[in-house]
Amino acid sequence: MIKDIINKLHSELPATVKLVAVSKFHPFEAIEEAYAAGQRCFAESRPQELAAKVKRLEEIRLERGEPDYMSDIEWHFIGHLQTNKLKMVLPHVALVQSVDSVRLLDAINAWGKANNKVINVLLECFISGEETKQGLSEEELIQIVSGVVRYDFIHIDGLMGMASFTDDEAEIREDFQRLLDMQQILHDWIGESGNVDADCSELSMGMSGDYPIAIEMGSTMVRIGSMIFGERN
Ligand SMILES: *Cc1c(COP(=O)(O)O)cnc(C)c1O
Repeated sequence: MIKDIINKLHSELPATVKLVAVSKFHPFEAIEEAYAAGQRCFAESRPQELAAKVKRLEEIRLERGEPDYMSDIEWHFIGHLQTNKLKMVLPHVALVQSVDSVRLLDAINAWGKANNKVINVLLECFISGEETKQGLSEEELIQIVSGVVRYDFIHIDGLMGMASFTDDEAEIREDFQRLLDMQQILHDWIGESGNVDADCSELSMGMSGDYPIAIEMGSTMVRIGSMIFGERN
């Protein structure tokens, strides 16, 4: 049961770790069930699906005559975001966890300026060594943090990374360690420059298969999908 797993996770996770329930590919009813158990933060990975779920919630509010139904739900975006899809995502989300290029950062800042909304983001870093996974390299991260003063409409909350899909615990630890090293780069730069107000302290790492290791290594945000909602189709 979704409810039981949410309750179990809420009781087990340290207070410093935020649970992000990854609801992609699952119906809105599954989100309602998790919400009823006290979960508030949900993440989606496809712009159309996020927009459809936001719309579904609005419909339900109308149907029920309850404009405040689930009003404190918090959406995160965790998938690849194309610059022509920003308007489907940015009006709805509290955090974009998956900023993986300077180009995207530029586009988000421009959208924020045009819509007068500061967008909270995490920079997604490439840590796994798997060719299919996307994310910023160390060089790109440095390029971004050294130019970050240009972004008046972006608040960088921290970093996100995905470890290799493997049972090899040592390999997973190596991947997470790479994210910690990149966080150090970020903090060193912020310390030196002194002109970034963000503390960049969020570290989004850990999924259904590896979140206990991630927490042990300092994660502040775990993104858990299949463990809560079951396998995706
Ligand atoms: C799908 C997804 C998750 C959740 O993965 P599970 O293994 O189902 O917990 C976490 N993070 C990202 C970026 C994802 O795309």
